[in-house]
Amino acid sequence: MGVTSRISLFLLATAAIVSGQQSATLTAQQIIERIQAQVGVPWRSQTVDTFKAGDPATRVTGVATTMMATYDVLVRAAAQGLNLIITHEPTFYSHLDQTAELEKENDAVWADKERFIKEHHLVVWRFHDHWHMRRPDGITTGVVRQLQWQKFQSATDPSLFVLPETTLASLAEQMKERLGIQVVRVVGNPQMKLTKVGLAPGASGPQRHRSMLQRNNLDVLAIGEVPEWETIEYVTDAVSEGKNKALILLGHIPSEQPGMEYCAEWLKTFVKEVPVEFVKTREPFWLAK
Ligand SMILES: [Zn+2]
Repeated sequence: MGVTSRISLFLLATAAIVSGQQSATLTAQQIIERIQAQVGVPWRSQTVDTFKAGDPATRVTGVATTMMATYDVLVRAAAQGLNLIITHEPTFYSHLDQTAELEKENDAVWADKERFIKEHHLVVWRFHDHWHMRRPDGITTGVVRQLQWQKFQSATDPSLFVLPETTLASLAEQMKERLGIQVVRVVGNPQMKLTKVGLAPGASGPQRHRSMLQRNNLDVLAIGEVPEWETIEYVTDAVSEGKNKALILLGHIPSEQPGMEYCAEWLKTFVKEVPVEFVKTREPFWLAK
């Protein structure tokens, strides 16, 4: 081996050590700071986008984006060596992820999850408000792309779509297939003709749902979820009154999930030191025969 190749080998080794050190010292906190700098909207002081579990100073070996940090998602992320979990929805069963009650009750389900997170040095951070505030909305972007509805989207209101005329049954089938959902529930006449569809993924609340449905020209609203005595009763009444309205319930997870798949793609453009993977949250429901 000549002197030159010895030197280049030495340089290669040094570069490997340096880059190894760099990725070894990239902490969860540093990745979140990059997200805050890249998301394109001012960071709010009041937000649910905070650390929910684990130490922000933890060295990140890989990042998982997911819809909901379920126990099943945590297990699959840890098995892939991904220790920073970026979740759109809560980890501990309520919007603010407050664990005081669970601790007081010494709840066994919560305790196992907490233990798994500690034992595997996982860090869980929620990315909800600002991913929605981004323009265009990060969740909507992923969902519309998955539905292949870009060409039908209104230029002035990204939650409205004018589709070629179809029936409610066909529309529900198309959404079920394209979003890969097992359980889709529908309120309305299956043969109802429609063109104007509103999309409200997640749980945007009965007021938002109603204001979308109140537009006379909107035929169908597709949502993630809502309590059955709110928007569901409202649309049931509209149908009974003979109005051309319908509701499609996609389920919270599948209604927003493509938005967190898109989030992984976006993260990869500025987090290059460690792997970034989308870890799919499993739909919780199955259909009884
Ligand atoms: Zn959401």
